[in-house]
Amino acid sequence: MSYEKVVLILGGTGEAFELAAMINALTGWRAVTSMAGRTKRPRRPVGEVIFGGFGGPEGLGRCLAERGALAMIDATHPFASQITRNAVQACTKAEIPLLRLDRPPWLVRQSWRLVSDIGEAARLFRGRKERVFLTIGKKELGEFGNVGDSFFLIRTVDPVEASPSNNNHEFVTGRGPYSVEGELQIMRDYGITWLVTKNSGGEVGMSKLIAAEQAGVSICVIERPKLPECESVETPAEAARWLERL
Ligand code: NAP
Repeated sequence: MSYEKVVLILGGTGEAFELAAMINALTGWRAVTSMAGRTKRPRRPVGEVIFGGFGGPEGLGRCLAERGALAMIDATHPFASQITRNAVQACTKAEIPLLRLDRPPWLVRQSWRLVSDIGEAARLFRGRKERVFLTIGKKELGEFGNVGDSFFLIRTVDPVEASPSNNNHEFVTGRGPYSVEGELQIMRDYGITWLVTKNSGGEVGMSKLIAAEQAGVSICVIERPKLPECESVETPAEAARWLERL
């Protein structure tokens, strides 16, 4: 029986999915991918997958120990800041090498309205009557409760159970990648005047930005949260090479 070293991937992104396949093709390493378990039908990466949180940095540390993991790669979304902080804490304590797989942010355009968080994005629409396409996920939709007379088209992966209160809104579900043509169509169909998005980065999410520019829709981009210092790379291939060097 061959001896395989275990690496824990913190997943929930397309990059984590690609990385698991690359690592499981490497001799000597076996990837275990962990997912928060928020979406109903997540794309399941190759190899072992575990779902649900760990119970904070201590729980994450226990998981590393129980599985005898020799490395961890944090391939979570750039806005998933809590799990990233937990990863740094757990790996520092366990003295296990940690790499962050961080796709580069989009280059800021002068025409974009940049805001530092979702609350600031929501305040932008107070006392205004806009038609807003919200592509920020469902976790922080509450920030958009009671902001006034604007209409919100809210796109999420799974249907949303709790609506932001009082606002005039409509839900659509969908999972990328989206085409520029499709994004243009939805903006035209709903008479959208503003797009609100996180600076998630990556090619896949660019279609809506290109479409908004073409349609003359104003763009509000939420800047990335500040994350703790950590060695990082930008692509799954670089992350796999880092692991091979360990
Ligand atoms: P978060 O605020 O950073 O994390 C909240 C808690 O969720 C963590 O403390 C942890 O619970 C659990 N968790 C998060 N990611 C996990 C993972 N990969 N494996 C196991 N537990 C995890 O994260 P979030 O913003 O809610 O995002 C949740 C997941 O969705 C992430 O995995 C992320 O990659 C993905 N995602 C997020 C966004 C976004 O905009 N935030 C967009 C696309 C995908 P415990 O403390 O109990 O361990």
